[in-house]
Amino acid sequence: MPEIPELEAVRGFLTDHLRGAVITGATVRIGVVVRTGAQELRETLPGDRFGEVGRHGKMLLFRLESGRTLAVNPMLAGRFQYVEPSRKVAAKACLLLDLDHGQHLRYVDDRVMGKLYLVPSDHLDQIPGWAANGPDLLDPALTEDAWVERLQRYRGGIKNILTNAAFVQGIGNAYVDEILWEARINPYTPKTKLTADDQRRLYHAAHAVIAWATPLVRERMVLGATLDYEERRDFLRVHRRGGQPCPRCGGHISEITANQRITSFCRACQPGGPRMSRELGA
Ligand SMILES: [Zn+2]
Repeated sequence: MPEIPELEAVRGFLTDHLRGAVITGATVRIGVVVRTGAQELRETLPGDRFGEVGRHGKMLLFRLESGRTLAVNPMLAGRFQYVEPSRKVAAKACLLLDLDHGQHLRYVDDRVMGKLYLVPSDHLDQIPGWAANGPDLLDPALTEDAWVERLQRYRGGIKNILTNAAFVQGIGNAYVDEILWEARINPYTPKTKLTADDQRRLYHAAHAVIAWATPLVRERMVLGATLDYEERRDFLRVHRRGGQPCPRCGGHISEITANQRITSFCRACQPGGPRMSRELGA
């Protein structure tokens, strides 16, 4: 599932390559992903021009000159391609956009779980869930003090809180493990056991991990002027590295699978939390 580093890497690339491009044709191949209706995309996107590409949580926002925004939530497996039109079209390519400078922008989704919305740019709240979710992790208004203040409203294990979009948007199951490792906090620590210093360290760890990962993701996605990728996270230090040595202390990384979620952490660097009977690397 794409998280902030993947989406920021795509956003940066597409802002550079799409700005000013005019859409000359729109083909919706798999209409179920278009929540605001496929016909409107087909009929009204041609002739419109791309502006900035923004991001909010796990959603990319393609601003259009007409005052509309094409919002895309890729969910589990959605991805973008920016390629020559001659490139073979993937079986699960949902949306193809022809551009006046000759390239193709495609939205491909092997699970067909993504959600696309075409909405007025000043009414993004028409997107379901928009108002219910918390701030984006990189929202400048989410200061360290605001983070600590928001944390007080939540109970339970810290990993569950950090991946809850109501608390903060953009962190998923992979990068949360990296953030907790960076902050040396056990993922199962109840929030009530975190010190004030722990809570502030987590804020900085979250930003540090995103800043570290985004350029590494972009290197893996972009080839020249082409964006075409499978999600590749071979650089992660702890997530899905169960049984391997911790890059900080050399101890073994533990891995626990529960509720179809993998949690990876280092018991030496991130002490506390319960012992699990089926723990890889324990
Ligand atoms: Zn360690």
